[in-house]
Amino acid sequence: MSSNADIYHEMIIDYSRNPVNYGHIENPDVTFHDSNPLCGDSIDIDMKIDDNTVSDIKFHGKGCAICMACSSVLTEITKGKSIDEVRKIDKTDVLSELGLEHLQAVRIKCALLSLKVLKSALYSYLGKHMQDSKDVDKLKEEAANLY
Ligand SMILES: [Zn+2]
Repeated sequence: MSSNADIYHEMIIDYSRNPVNYGHIENPDVTFHDSNPLCGDSIDIDMKIDDNTVSDIKFHGKGCAICMACSSVLTEITKGKSIDEVRKIDKTDVLSELGLEHLQAVRIKCALLSLKVLKSALYSYLGKHMQDSKDVDKLKEEAANLY
């Protein structure tokens, strides 16, 4: 019998070997890069946004198993959602998918790098397309305070 921990561990290994939504989007509406020098994780996210909805999202880069698994899960959560819905995605949504709620502080950056890149990408997109600068500032703050 395998415990939940084993199942989550297998999911992480599986995602890291076969990442979902991995690759580039041609002519993305927004693209953003960030890295986690502590571990060497480095992620780019490309997004297509149509009618305020994320119609396509892909990521590429290098990362440890946790980083790749969380990036995969995050892109799965994000694809097809409206910008407002994507803005509400928080770290628990990503961590709980893989049973990582109690991850050590040192690995949290691996797990949340992609979410940080996503929020920053959205911020840069909205900065170009929105008039309400207060709204954009709030999003920037969210990205900065993620971990
Ligand atoms: Zn890492």
